[in-house]
Amino acid sequence: MTDRYAVIGNPVGHSKSPLIHAEFARQTGQDIEYSRLLVPIEGFQAAVEEFRLAAGKGLNVTLPFKLEAYQLATRRSPRADDAEAVNVLSFGRESVEGDNTDGIGLVRDIEANLGFSIAGKRVLLLGAGGAAQGAVGPLLATQPALLAVGNRTTEKAQRLVARFAGRGPFASVVVQAGSLNSYAGARFDLVVNATSASLKDTAPDIPMGLFAAGSMAYDMMYGQGLTPFLRLAQQQGADRLADGLGMLVEQAAETFLIWRGIRPDTHPVIQQLQSL
Ligand code: NDP
Repeated sequence: MTDRYAVIGNPVGHSKSPLIHAEFARQTGQDIEYSRLLVPIEGFQAAVEEFRLAAGKGLNVTLPFKLEAYQLATRRSPRADDAEAVNVLSFGRESVEGDNTDGIGLVRDIEANLGFSIAGKRVLLLGAGGAAQGAVGPLLATQPALLAVGNRTTEKAQRLVARFAGRGPFASVVVQAGSLNSYAGARFDLVVNATSASLKDTAPDIPMGLFAAGSMAYDMMYGQGLTPFLRLAQQQGADRLADGLGMLVEQAAETFLIWRGIRPDTHPVIQQLQSL
């Protein structure tokens, strides 16, 4: 029998996840169907229950429901607990398991696909919303020299960082939190834009001169051409520019592994999406 999955969100019409999972299924010979579920803002829980009762096997969760998904899950992975956000739900007989694959998708894209090793580097993460929450744990696990989080609302960056600061495996990493402006005068090897400023076609308001020689600017947002943040980074001398398309495919591959027990090859899928 064909196993059913979907991406649930609002809006969801733009999502590339159905295409990505269809490619993964074709590549690995898995018999799955993957669709889009547009649900009203107040209707997340009811829609999840309906999908599950109709023998649905799992859901990818996107804006604005990742925090609700975290609360709805009856069991959560350590990654989901670190992120306090869930983008993957898997339905068991009795349980709803929540996981977060966004952060590991980001790190895999930067390190494996783009060949940029984060260990020992100075990293600035812009934003403290759902995507940034998912990124902090996996970024710290790569053992950068410094992880600084800058956010428009400073308290959110401080709260996010406080959850990780000094924790066992990350104890050697210097962790900082501040406003977007607080890093004036500092230089970073990797600057990741996890703000949603690009959705309004603007770049976050960052100080000049953040990009060190040989640095990479990475925008979780993706689209045709350079995003506003990547244009700004280019003007300010960032050496390498990357958008979040690879992250999207990598988080999907990690999801596919959770659901089907097989890791698909992401390279042909990234290439295919880049050529659209
Ligand atoms: P959230 O709404 O949870 O968080 C938004 C963040 O952006 C907050 O930190 C907010 O700051 C900040 N922000 C919003 N507007 C501005 C602005 N004009 N200037 C500076 N900061 C701003 O969104 P998500 O974390 O879920 O998503 C963030 C981005 O990441 C989106 O562009 C999304 O598309 C992308 N994304 C990409 C993925 C991929 O696979 N490539 C996966 C997940 C997300 P404040 O706290 O002050 O409001």
